Amino acid sequence: MRAKRAKSYRKAMQFYQQAFGFREPYQILVSPDFILAGASKQLPVKARLEEAVQGQAKFLVTHCGISELLKSTSNFRAQAITASKEFEKRRCPHQEPVPGLDCIKEIMGNENKNNYCVAVQDNDLRATLRTVPGVPILHVKQSVVVLERKSQVAKDASKQMEQDKLGLTELERSMLRAVKKQAKEAKGEKRKKKKKTAGPKAPNPLSIKKAAKKPQTAKTTTTPASKPGQAEKGVGSATISAMAVLGTKRSRPEDDTSTPTKKAAIASGNPAASEDVVKHKRKRNRSAKNRATEKDSVAVSQAPSS
Ligand SMILES: [Zn+2]
Repeated sequence: MRAKRAKSYRKAMQFYQQAFGFREPYQILVSPDFILAGASKQLPVKARLEEAVQGQAKFLVTHCGISELLKSTSNFRAQAITASKEFEKRRCPHQEPVPGLDCIKEIMGNENKNNYCVAVQDNDLRATLRTVPGVPILHVKQSVVVLERKSQVAKDASKQMEQDKLGLTELERSMLRAVKKQAKEAKGEKRKKKKKTAGPKAPNPLSIKKAAKKPQTAKTTTTPASKPGQAEKGVGSATISAMAVLGTKRSRPEDDTSTPTKKAAIASGNPAASEDVVKHKRKRNRSAKNRATEKDSVAVSQAPSS
């Protein structure tokens, strides 16, 4: 077989594999007229058929086919019968043998459920088989076993099957892909956003409460311990209140100059002394205020003249 033809046959059988699920060893249903044609050309039918399908094959002949060969009046009847004995016998539903071609026609039906290849010479049967999707048809042509080109029905059927498998047209699929992509991207963004907000803005509220409570409890426990220490030094409650009053104004540098006297008064535990200090402070504040108002009035009087 020429390389070019072998290649085209290989491609054809790949099509049947992909479109209709054909697998090696291919099952070739051989009709009695094909066996006779092969015998007349003295062809090694098995080898030629395997070449044509470019792979290993099982050869089947029906009971009706065998009975037809036995009844044959052809000059090549004997050779045909010996050739058919090498083939597997396929059961058919016919108790009484029917013509071999009719038997094959019935077995093939409209679907070729068993994924048979058919080797047949009869033109009518070949024409009928072309209407069944996915039937590789073989016949003897000038002492060569030929694999027919795949029929339009087979092509259409394979296309339809592909579409059924996917269930969508190309446009629908592309649209679906776009929608899926968008949905994926949106999901990804949402996840990212969630992560960002969840981190620093809203930590575990339970952890915050615990952290805030612990120092407070520590203070309450430590203060009573420190108080007895102060009592030992002999600081009275009155002096503590005075300290609180003074403590608010400690930031002023003027007060710092008088701290020795205050401290002395506080240390002595004399409430009168602390009162004096407060009075003195009030006086000073008043005088400072008066000075400020005087300055303001001067500024106001000068403003119009300038
Ligand atoms: Zn039959």
